Amino acid sequence: MKAVVYEGPGNIRLVDRPLPSLLEPTDAIIRVTKTTICGTDLAILKGGVPTVAAGRIIGHEGVGVVKAVGKGVRHFKAGDRVIISCITSCGSCENCRRGIPSNCVDGGWILGNTIDGCQAEFVRVPFADNGLYHIPDAIHDEVALMLSDIVPTGLEVGVMAGNVQFGDTVAIVGAGPVGLAALLAVQFFSPAMVIVVDLDDFRLALSEQLGATHTINNSDGQAVAKILALTNGRGVDAAIEAVGHPLTCKLVQEIIGVGGTIANIGVYSQSAELNKQALWTKNITIRMGVVNTTTIPLLLQTILGGKLDPGQLITHRLPFGEALHAYDLFTHAGKEQAVKIVLDMVAQEEVDLVELIVRRIMAGG
Ligand SMILES: [Zn+2]
Ligand SMILES: [Zn+2]
Repeated sequence: MKAVVYEGPGNIRLVDRPLPSLLEPTDAIIRVTKTTICGTDLAILKGGVPTVAAGRIIGHEGVGVVKAVGKGVRHFKAGDRVIISCITSCGSCENCRRGIPSNCVDGGWILGNTIDGCQAEFVRVPFADNGLYHIPDAIHDEVALMLSDIVPTGLEVGVMAGNVQFGDTVAIVGAGPVGLAALLAVQFFSPAMVIVVDLDDFRLALSEQLGATHTINNSDGQAVAKILALTNGRGVDAAIEAVGHPLTCKLVQEIIGVGGTIANIGVYSQSAELNKQALWTKNITIRMGVVNTTTIPLLLQTILGGKLDPGQLITHRLPFGEALHAYDLFTHAGKEQAVKIVLDMVAQEEVDLVELIVRRIMAGG
């Protein structure tokens, strides 16, 4: 099967790998129909995620069809259409039972990290009963794909951790895929004002389409002054940081209002300063963490109810055979106006079929 393999810093390749097989009774093998690239995959490509060894198939977002299940899998069978959660959880360890499956002692974020992931034609999913979700017939694969990681992340780690309430003023700093997913999810709570801050005008224009009441391009470094002006000097009730950089970490601390909550989604590759001397009198809360993806069933219901369309985050669709080109596009996401790039296996099968037909014609068959 074809798979995207990390070969070391700066080096990924699309190569042939053996099909995965069932290793444990609780495993399932999924034929991936669509997958996508996450910002975390770019961090892996740069060599920024040391747990990813050379030779690893990367990718932790995918939808597909169950090909085989182990004897211990109760809720899924061959032929089921499924979302693959980016989080693997055993359901019985101490952290799973405390409701923190992202920190499962036998799982957590392991797909495309410490075990082979979803950017492949087939993937082995451990603890399949906990890591897979049935896709309702009315929901398209590419819409469901947005629920593997980014929409639950925006909702759980951004909006819910940010304690967003009806009538609140919210700032989302960073309008990448997860920041925009948080923007979609924040609408469930009817905030009065949603301010999106980014450096890219395309993403800010998209933010306006997706429900931002105000957008600020911080290329001039004036975002703090502008947000304080918009809120009569109060600052915001919830500041959702979706970049993971010391400068945006500083920014959210400067715009948070009394009693507010800073929710950190951004993945930091370096330490960032917490200015406690300026924050302590404001009675604020700071939260951060890895997504549990436990909101996937609710999000599916919300899509069915017509209250959410995560398909709005998709800007590009490419056959899986062009995965490396997709990485190039996503690396230059600003210039390419890319948010989520869907890699389509079915399209690849069609490409292969066309190639086969062409080869037969050329061979005179
Ligand atoms: Zn991800
Ligand atoms: Zn567990």
